[in-house]
Amino acid sequence: MNIALFLEMAAQAAPERTALVCDGARFTYAELFAAAQGAASTIRQSGAEYVALLDESSEAAVLALFGAALAGVPYVPLNYRLADPDLAALLTRITPCLLVGDAARAGTLCEDPANTLLERADFVTSARAAPPLEEADPGLGVAVQLFTSGTTGAPKAAILRHTNLSSYVIGTVEFGSAEEDMARLVTVPPYHIAGIAALLTSIYAQCRIVLLPAFTPEGWLDLVAKEKVTHAFVVPTMLARVVEAIRAGTPGDVSSLRALSYGGGKMPRELIEDALDLFPETAFTNAYGLTETSSTIALLGPEDHRAAKASGDPRVRARLASVGRPLPTIELEIRDEDGTVLGPNQAGEIFVRGEQVSGEYKERSALTADGWFPTRDAGYLDEEGYLFLSGRADDVIVRGGENISPGEIEDVLLTHPAIADACATGVPSLEWGEAVGIAIVTAPDCDCPPHDELCQLVRARLRSSRVPERTLVVETLPYNEMGKLLRREVKGWFGA
Ligand code: ATP
Repeated sequence: MNIALFLEMAAQAAPERTALVCDGARFTYAELFAAAQGAASTIRQSGAEYVALLDESSEAAVLALFGAALAGVPYVPLNYRLADPDLAALLTRITPCLLVGDAARAGTLCEDPANTLLERADFVTSARAAPPLEEADPGLGVAVQLFTSGTTGAPKAAILRHTNLSSYVIGTVEFGSAEEDMARLVTVPPYHIAGIAALLTSIYAQCRIVLLPAFTPEGWLDLVAKEKVTHAFVVPTMLARVVEAIRAGTPGDVSSLRALSYGGGKMPRELIEDALDLFPETAFTNAYGLTETSSTIALLGPEDHRAAKASGDPRVRARLASVGRPLPTIELEIRDEDGTVLGPNQAGEIFVRGEQVSGEYKERSALTADGWFPTRDAGYLDEEGYLFLSGRADDVIVRGGENISPGEIEDVLLTHPAIADACATGVPSLEWGEAVGIAIVTAPDCDCPPHDELCQLVRARLRSSRVPERTLVVETLPYNEMGKLLRREVKGWFGA
């Protein structure tokens, strides 16, 4: 299915329902679909082969997504936080485009006259005024092209087809299933798959979407109370900031919040335990997924969170550290380096297959001949089929031929009360090729424990190859806006 059909169906089924709220602007489903049709005409007239967005979340982002789908061209939301040279390089990969948002900046970065640049307000005005496309035959080609954030290498141009995204949506929510009062707060930036997935599932369910253009914990709490938000998705750093703000006395009524999902990066154990205490009436879900899989492929649902909190059984409690079980529509295998499928509790690379899995980049496909996608995430399944992640294959430290996952070292370091955050990475070693280096952020008012003490701590819990050779004490570790630790940057601090 073309994803624009979701909006058309919602506009037919619930024309008067509020579809979107953003910065005081409100659209019913009928208004949003009419404006998306106008956006499609604007896009077709420009002759562009891509619709790019260089902007925060707003109604323009939603119109660009659906307008592009109706016009049959890929939608490419760009990361406006990138440095100018990086952004300029991406723009040359999507010319000729209709660029919506920061037209002035885009114009200086890419002077190609083939591009059409429109400020956000002009695009929305034009979309609202333009008639629908006369002969719309958008087809089922590429719906969205997303440049990944490049935390493990250069940004990849991941391609998601209409069939991938619609399979994900139809497999996850029921058409029109939103209760009358359901309101979903979307705070992730528009260039991330989690934001696109949230828009599509919300529209298919016909709920009210509330956009928060730039996340702040105060803004988030304010909108939850004002719009009586019932559902929200946060990355771990956002949750940490909300919890901190509530504890610091920031006013906010979160009683409307029925469901809170989180994902995008590793959730610290103490943080989720804190949040479960702070939001006792809210159903929590951990969602694990990748851009290349149209977002979520495994879930740890509310029942598992409740059981993990209440149970005396350590195995059930430990599930809070897992990302749950694969969706019923997803096949998932753990494989070793030779491609052999591994059994329970054996760690290897996670491979997935399913209609929502694209595994395709603009230049190449990463799928195996029989359609499996290597996620480059390492992990294992326990006997009950719960998936535990142990890091990304590209982050593995190879010490004298032995593969070491940085996560296992960090988990041990974080048990020390004087350590607030930690990153383990490979550092050059004459003897081993690569050895373990650790960057440590100390807890407030604490001194960093001496290097020897940290070595002892690791040696007591892990094999000797995991013992760090070098320790750096730093003020903070670098995270991107989705809360992902930028390990390559930390590696650079060690001269690697
Ligand atoms: P790049 O691939 O270029 O480094 P990226 O990391 O931003 O870019 P995404 O598709 O946004 O690419 O991130 C997917 C990765 O995020 C997964 O492979 C996994 O490592 C991590 N991740 C996603 N959800 C979770 C989760 N719930 N818990 C832990 N990690 C997660």
